[in-house]
Amino acid sequence: MPTLRIDPLHIENLKAMVPTGHFSTGSSHLDLHAKDQSQHPPCRPDVVIWPMDREEVSRILQYANAHRIPVTGWGSGSSLEGNPIPVCSGIVLDFSQMNRVLALRAEDFQVDVQPGVVYQDLNQQLRHEGLFFPPDPGARATIGGIIANNASGTKTVRYGSAKDYVRRLTVVLANGEIVETGTRASKSSSGIDLIHLFVGSEGTLGLVVEATLRLAALPVEIAGAIATFADVETAAGAVFRIMRSGLEPAALELLDPACIAVINRERGLGLSVAPNVFVELHGTSRSHLDETMLVLEEVCRESGCSDFRPGLGRQQWGELWKARHELGEMIVRRHPGCGILVVDVAVPLTAYPQLIATARQELDSAGLDGYIISHAGNGNIHLNLVGPRDDPQAWETIESISNRMVLKALEVGGTATGEHGVGIGKKKYMAAEHGRGLQWMKQIKHLFDPNQILNPGKIFPD
Ligand SMILES: Cc1cc2nc3c(=O)[nH]c(=O)nc-3n(C[C@H](O)[C@H](O)[C@H](O)COP(=O)(O)OP(=O)(O)OC[C@H]3O[C@@H](n4cnc5c(N)ncnc54)[C@H](O)[C@@H]3O)c2cc1C
Repeated sequence: MPTLRIDPLHIENLKAMVPTGHFSTGSSHLDLHAKDQSQHPPCRPDVVIWPMDREEVSRILQYANAHRIPVTGWGSGSSLEGNPIPVCSGIVLDFSQMNRVLALRAEDFQVDVQPGVVYQDLNQQLRHEGLFFPPDPGARATIGGIIANNASGTKTVRYGSAKDYVRRLTVVLANGEIVETGTRASKSSSGIDLIHLFVGSEGTLGLVVEATLRLAALPVEIAGAIATFADVETAAGAVFRIMRSGLEPAALELLDPACIAVINRERGLGLSVAPNVFVELHGTSRSHLDETMLVLEEVCRESGCSDFRPGLGRQQWGELWKARHELGEMIVRRHPGCGILVVDVAVPLTAYPQLIATARQELDSAGLDGYIISHAGNGNIHLNLVGPRDDPQAWETIESISNRMVLKALEVGGTATGEHGVGIGKKKYMAAEHGRGLQWMKQIKHLFDPNQILNPGKIFPD
């Protein structure tokens, strides 16, 4: 994709459209918006704008569309597939100033938010009402970025991903038109579902300026358990049995011994350095959870677990969960001077043990540092592959492992990306995953954005 640098006249005109201080062509701002958390090469935008409201976004898009200037939305830049990197330069619209919670309707389990709200901050506020927004991608991510990537996380196995939590959206289209779609009802059969065209479209069809989100009730009681296994393959087999047993875990995560060693080193939690499955249960009473825990233990022991630590209380479990959420950053700290490629495949549960075994074999035969971190209940496997930044041979090996993992996932009916999105890195698998469906996606893109100004260079193969 050629780099398109915009005319200085456009820079002046854009500057005049927004209040002072909400526009920058300064190097440090351009650098901060040139890369996300992935290994994809950085690319600077020409200008960064921090819009304050939907009308401003609309005016900027009208101008950009008329002059064919690329526009890329920006939440907090925590993506792992190059999703917000402005590969064609142009304008980055950073939504961090549009960060207000507009209305909370606790009795309807709904909240109206601007796109720049960070989900951890939202959940902090919602706690007082006994509510939460379940998709928890871990990093400090914004609602706009979560919707655009259809992000999910550790609680998705029970609560679903971002797409399950959007009731209404206000979107600014490429031509500046402001469109509201969806209702506040908890169900509707009315018309073609535009909301779900925008969710997961990575800012290529329109920019989200407001969203009504569905919320869930905070669980009354929580209990956690850690099941330890001799090898990852046996642990993976247990996942299927736990899911089939009807226990409805709220989280079901598998970590390999390398991950556990990192957590122990940083947090001193003293976990057994072996494949561990973390299970979280939610319930309405302690006695109900105690009973469920007994069934869980039985299922885990029948599935070959060597140790089972039940009944971890809120505080201990909270510490463990914090460590789990920060694991990605701990791995980065563990390998200074190295880059990390995160594989993100998801497969049907029946194929999950096979994919986990493939991941293990790939790591063993390559002799690389690597970590298996898995949202196991969803068959979603991350393989974090580590290589020195200046070692092209190591990176060739890493790329080929990633490629083989994706092809294997597709072969068994899975997806190239369980939660991180297509961005730049997964474009090459779109045809294999979607077949003729990709042509229809391209037509939808053309309909919404005929001049190809919105986040160009993403999702669609060149
Ligand atoms: C350590 C770590 C752990 C992670 N774990 C997970 C995980 O468990 N699950 C998961 O799903 N992800 C995970 N991620 C990836 C990432 O955090 C999520 O994809 C997150 O949703 C990105 O949000 P963001 O605000 O950073 O968006 P950005 O990265 O800034 O942008 C994401 C995409 O959204 C677009 N966009 C931004 N704002 C808007 C808007 N208002 N309208 C339209 N498009 C917009 C951008 O153009 C881009 O295409 C992890 C990342 C890190 C670094």
